[in-house]
Amino acid sequence: MALVVQKFGGTSVADAQKIVAAARKAVARHKAGDKVVVVVSAMGHQTDVLVDLAKQITERPSAREMDMLLSTGEQVSVALFAMAIQSLGEEAVSLTGAQIGIRTDSTHTKARIKSISTDHVMKLLDDGRIVIAAGFQGIDQHGNITTLGRGGSDTTAVALAAVLRADVCEIYTDVDGVYTTDPRILSTARRLPSISYDEMLELASLGAGVMHPRSIEFAKKFGVPVLVRSSFKDVPGTLIVAADRATARPVSGVALAKDEARITLEGVPDQPGSNHKLFSPLASSGIAVDMIVQNVAQHGLADISFTVPADDLAQALDVTRAVAKALGATGVSHDDSMAKVSVVGVGMAREEGVAGRMFLALSRERINVRMITTSEIKISVLIDRADAAKAVKAAHAAFGLEKPEVDTAESAGTAAPPTKSSPLDVVRRLEGMEDLAVEDCQLDSSQALVTFTDLPDTPGVAADVFEEIGRQKLFVDMIVQSHPRGGRAELSFTVPAVDRDRAIEVAGRIAKARGATVANVPHVAKLSITGVGIRSHAGIADRLFAPLGDAGVNVDLVSTSEVRLNVVVAAEQGKQSLEVLRKAFGL
Ligand code: ASP
Ligand code: MG
Repeated sequence: MALVVQKFGGTSVADAQKIVAAARKAVARHKAGDKVVVVVSAMGHQTDVLVDLAKQITERPSAREMDMLLSTGEQVSVALFAMAIQSLGEEAVSLTGAQIGIRTDSTHTKARIKSISTDHVMKLLDDGRIVIAAGFQGIDQHGNITTLGRGGSDTTAVALAAVLRADVCEIYTDVDGVYTTDPRILSTARRLPSISYDEMLELASLGAGVMHPRSIEFAKKFGVPVLVRSSFKDVPGTLIVAADRATARPVSGVALAKDEARITLEGVPDQPGSNHKLFSPLASSGIAVDMIVQNVAQHGLADISFTVPADDLAQALDVTRAVAKALGATGVSHDDSMAKVSVVGVGMAREEGVAGRMFLALSRERINVRMITTSEIKISVLIDRADAAKAVKAAHAAFGLEKPEVDTAESAGTAAPPTKSSPLDVVRRLEGMEDLAVEDCQLDSSQALVTFTDLPDTPGVAADVFEEIGRQKLFVDMIVQSHPRGGRAELSFTVPAVDRDRAIEVAGRIAKARGATVANVPHVAKLSITGVGIRSHAGIADRLFAPLGDAGVNVDLVSTSEVRLNVVVAAEQGKQSLEVLRKAFGL
């Protein structure tokens, strides 16, 4: 007998017929002998309707009353859902967040779950009932109703699955799974039978439409297998699991962020604290900085480039210009017509040559790469927006993503179950976990840094470099290309220190042919901060740079992804930096 959490999104319960159809799925499961908890969203676009209603009354509704209002959407759908199950001859009980005992903090409209009591739900399940839980809502310590932020029912479902130690959390939605890329952009996009939590998090821009990123972080922390499947079509869906249970391939998906703007702070005196002075005011203005690239300083001056959503450009420019003045930087440049294309795959951390394949595919389409950042499982490039669709297509084809693979989602039930935490442990970790955006900080002192300066800013250069490096079987970890200036680009990468001599030899040859120069640092320290919401959490970059600056640590290189921030510092400052960061993030 299994315990299953089934979550139905708004479109899956949009009208009475759909509610009955969804209820049939729960009943069938229950009849098969499983314990079933159903989590339901508000019907259709009911939450939008309620938001709109409030706006008609006042421009500034109080957050508490907003939650009081929005939570009614789910209260309606759970009651109707329970009635539907009862009409099908099974016993069901609907419960609000408060009735279940989903305790949150008091941050109305985006509350974070602090704890969930399981006794009541467990007893109902043991009595043979199907429990219908309202998604998206909880109650704070003063008894106020709270909501978890838009799309929060996914988080309710996964959190319930975690505390109840469910065997699987099934997310029924209007798409039939997670795709290799957005099918609206590319018709050859294919549904993935399985994907790892980390890939799903790095693909947030792809997966966001499918699932709330925060819910994936919960699933990862507690090892909850999540099956995303269609409410309307009987197809297997996509299983989101730990990396060792997902199909291994170098690249699983290609994500596009279409509306990016780039800002470069040029000629910043290279001294501890300058990053902090830039990213702190950006964070307090609520601007979510995405890619951050700092090049290796020349003559004591560095460039810091970063991207923001194009909508935030004007505000971000105001902030940056003020900072430029205060820091004595030589200038600020910007471009609002950029797009970011990323390839993501856990397999790339084990395979050489992935970067080369990506850059070659872009080069064949004559697409110029403006900036590059990488994480262990992701390569992101900033390109002109006009090239976006072409780039997605090229990258998708380069990794053969259109080719079908064997479906493993159906056999999910027979795979080895994840190691389960005890309920107490889960509750303890649930507590406060949501405001803990940072999960880990690691130091890697085994790398050498190689930097090209004065590379021509033309399509194909990155491809040449990394193709050759791939051919030499050199394992590249971090790649950073700063925004080109004066028609010349700077490109840095790290390799295991033991491979440094070979890397320099290869790099030297490439540089010579291109009129560039190569420099290297035999040993550097790379610090990686991982967690969820790194990208969307405006203050993370600030919280990283502030303590390093205070400790007098100069940051040589920065690169970012959705779930990770890497910085390279001098080897002898590695240990100190690790301690500083661990303390700063309470790890
Ligand atoms: N009904 C809420 C919303 O529309 C929560 C959810 O559907 O996940 O955002
Ligand atoms: Mg949703």
